Amino acid sequence: NELDAPTKALIARRQRALGAGYRLFYERPVYAERAEGIWLYGKDGERYLDAYNNVPSVGHCHPRVVEAIAKQAAKLNTHTRYLFDVVIDYAETLLATFPPDLDNVMFTCSGSEATDLALRVARDFTQAEGIIVTRHAYHGTTAAAAEVSPSRGATSPRIRTVGAPDFYRSPDGNVGAQLAEEVARAIDSLKKDGAGFAGLVLDTVFSSDGLCVEPAGFLRDVTDVVRAAGGLLIADEVQGGFGRTGSHMWGFARHGIVPDLVVMGKAMGNGMPIGGVVGKSHLFDKFGKSNRYFNTFAGNPVCCAAALAVLEVIESEQLMANSVAVGNYLRTALADLARPYPQIGDVRGAGLFAGVEFVKDQSTRQPNAAAALACVNALRDKRILISTMGPYGSTLKIRPPLPFTREAVDLLIKSLGECLTQI
Ligand code: PMP
Repeated sequence: NELDAPTKALIARRQRALGAGYRLFYERPVYAERAEGIWLYGKDGERYLDAYNNVPSVGHCHPRVVEAIAKQAAKLNTHTRYLFDVVIDYAETLLATFPPDLDNVMFTCSGSEATDLALRVARDFTQAEGIIVTRHAYHGTTAAAAEVSPSRGATSPRIRTVGAPDFYRSPDGNVGAQLAEEVARAIDSLKKDGAGFAGLVLDTVFSSDGLCVEPAGFLRDVTDVVRAAGGLLIADEVQGGFGRTGSHMWGFARHGIVPDLVVMGKAMGNGMPIGGVVGKSHLFDKFGKSNRYFNTFAGNPVCCAAALAVLEVIESEQLMANSVAVGNYLRTALADLARPYPQIGDVRGAGLFAGVEFVKDQSTRQPNAAAALACVNALRDKRILISTMGPYGSTLKIRPPLPFTREAVDLLIKSLGECLTQI
């Protein structure tokens, strides 16, 4: 299991040049050369099945996206204070995927900047500071976004955390009511402490909290609580958006709710740095009266051309329908595979986002991070790329590009089966 010399050399150069702030995946890091569709090709000449990456969401290096980028880059790319067709074409096409109340979009360069902007808009509108998030959420890396990312250890007097819905461990399965009650208590606490209540930020698939997607509709109660208290609901769709859950373009729509602000990124540009906040225009109207938002690269013509191509490919290749069909096939196969293994406590997910949770004991449901990590590393050695997620790191995170196929699922299941007998 020794790393080859070129990989070792590049790791050493990376450490020298980039410093200590970065981490690599896997005990034996992957030295990537190029990628296409659902496959990543290594410097070692091997082909790796990508069952993890949601950024190249319509497939690595999709020819239509590549062409859109190249054409626009050859024509014009600059900051956003001139009139460009492609930027407005994209804004209109994107907004058409939302309920009519969500009728404005502001562009950013990343999901973190989008969270940051949504927080500013919410605080400006409510004239309050307090924000509620789930206990292991991640919403970004800017100072304001990191403050609402308790998975990175942040705490602040103007932030309250609540338990994410955990259907697997919920005694009565009524996760929606539990969440609503906890949020109501957190709102009282923020108001009592003088921070006031600006809003609730929720990743609509709760990816950092370990993937909590069932039962669809459970966000209705909490939405009512937030509105009654005069706060805004901010949906973070960085993970759940752009057709990931298959049945709906946006994770919030699975729950039959309409947020006030929606944060997006990652899959938006298939790898180009574009994010955004979609919201109700009266919120942006108030924000725009006292703020001027200028973000040099945000929503530039090349990124918008890529993002427009992404929406076109989702539609023309029917990737949402594929996400439903292949996602169902994947979860059924995972559940069948898991049956004889007592180490697997739960298989869950929606569309092409699946979680497989390892436990030390089926009855206590005590998480087993070591087994999950061993599985991830064993799969990597079989050239299948996945990772772990959740507060304990005990859940396999399977979140491939949307053109994933049944044949790819079969390969993943066969390899996972071998890993399970191995560990
Ligand atoms: N929100 C969620 C739910 C995320 O998963 C991430 C990135 N992991 C972000 C926000 C931040 O996005 P970015 O890394 O593009 O800044």
